[in-house]
Amino acid sequence: MTTANLRRTAPDRAATPSAPFGTDVTWTNWGGNQSATPAFTVRPRTEQEALAAVRFAIREGLPVRAVGSGHSSSPLVQTGGVLMDMSALSAITGTDRVRRRARALAGTTINAFGDPLWEQGLALANQGDIDKQQIAGALATSTHGSGKDLGSFSSALRWVKLINGYGDIVEIGEGQLRELRAAQVALGTLGIFLEVELAVADRYYLQEQITYPTWSETAATWQADIDSNRHYSFLWCPEDDSCELLDLPGSPEHRMGNRSYTKRYNVAEIQDEAGISTVEGARLDRSYRIYPGGFNTPFHELEYFVPSELGLTAVEAIQDLIRTKHPDQKYPVEVRWVKADDGYMSQFQGRDSIVITLTTEPGTDYWQFFRDADAVLRDFEPRAHWGKIHFMTRSRLERLYPELDTFIQVRREFDPRGMFLNDHTRSLFA
Ligand SMILES: Cc1cc2nc3c(=O)[nH]c(=O)nc-3n(C[C@H](O)[C@H](O)[C@H](O)COP(=O)(O)OP(=O)(O)OC[C@H]3O[C@@H](n4cnc5c(N)ncnc54)[C@H](O)[C@@H]3O)c2cc1C
Repeated sequence: MTTANLRRTAPDRAATPSAPFGTDVTWTNWGGNQSATPAFTVRPRTEQEALAAVRFAIREGLPVRAVGSGHSSSPLVQTGGVLMDMSALSAITGTDRVRRRARALAGTTINAFGDPLWEQGLALANQGDIDKQQIAGALATSTHGSGKDLGSFSSALRWVKLINGYGDIVEIGEGQLRELRAAQVALGTLGIFLEVELAVADRYYLQEQITYPTWSETAATWQADIDSNRHYSFLWCPEDDSCELLDLPGSPEHRMGNRSYTKRYNVAEIQDEAGISTVEGARLDRSYRIYPGGFNTPFHELEYFVPSELGLTAVEAIQDLIRTKHPDQKYPVEVRWVKADDGYMSQFQGRDSIVITLTTEPGTDYWQFFRDADAVLRDFEPRAHWGKIHFMTRSRLERLYPELDTFIQVRREFDPRGMFLNDHTRSLFA
């Protein structure tokens, strides 16, 4: 099944999805670098409407992809068949305070977990730089925050209900570890996720600390900073005006060129919420209010993961690349840490990792920079963020992911005809 040339003419109403749908609706992602015009764009409001849409696609021989909040910049969502917009399937469906679990519909955005979980004494154990992604979208690409003892969203998946390629609703729980490890990071290829259960944490407050060390200071305290903070991350600024490109407040006292904007978040005990502080750089607040930054201006990113013990050398190799070959690249380089997990296609599978994120401006020709970064980082066995621009191929995955074959077997069991593949995912996982 290919995704091209599947646009259909005037559909017979009886043969159309029961959920609200549009034909020839052009979809574009957040960053503006990916778009598609599916034959049908369906927005199911119930599980049954989602099921009917997949069964409709099976009858019509159309491929299906889901879209979350559209924040991925890799070609994950494109389809010429049926695009399932999951945004109406949004709700926290249950919490278990004792077992520290939360269930949610697949289209629930990360920011919609905050208040309801807090009211039950719970919170997401970690979050990334934004909270606008839908939970199924975040799981599909192993979205992560930072902290050497904290895993990605995918590492917290304990149960999922999905529609498979037979048009059946099936569940995967902790009793089916093989399937669960495939579902943890599935890039939408096992089927349409309807509802998920995550392991979560007791609710906690975070104290923020922002500092602006020089690069040599950042390197000198590298391991101590990782070990002594729950969340540690930094953005290294190649130029004085780098911070402004990401709307980050630079140091009031220092020029930012070759300095880092470092973030530390540690658990704080407060008696009551009168102690909350919203002072920029020293906030103390509920965890879910501390994590998300702004990031409202579109950018395009490449994000690679290398084994944490190689992290400092890998970051210095990227700095060298920017200084010697790409001095026009002025965006900060973000560096974070993520704990190893077991998801077959997780970038963190079997290895504690550091995350190196390169950001570029839409409309500029950044391809040579990204290709050179890919070449420089190849010495460090990099894996790539599935939701960002990358140069992974099937043969690279075969070297990097020991459980690739198992993942592909499970994928085929769930979707023998490959109806949930598009061109990009077919090239990697057919
Ligand atoms: C400004 C910005 C900040 C970001 N910050 C971070 C960060 O801090 N950490 C990080 O790791 N990443 C980050 N990302 C990347 C982002 O988290 C991922 O790309 C994530 O996958 C986007 O989620 P989404 O809901 O937008 O999914 P989409 O981009 O819409 O889709 C992603 C994948 O999920 C699949 N999918 C969505 N819903 C379903 C469903 N119901 N069933 C099956 N498959 C589904 C889609 O088919 C697709 O394959 C950031 C991206 C942006 C633009």
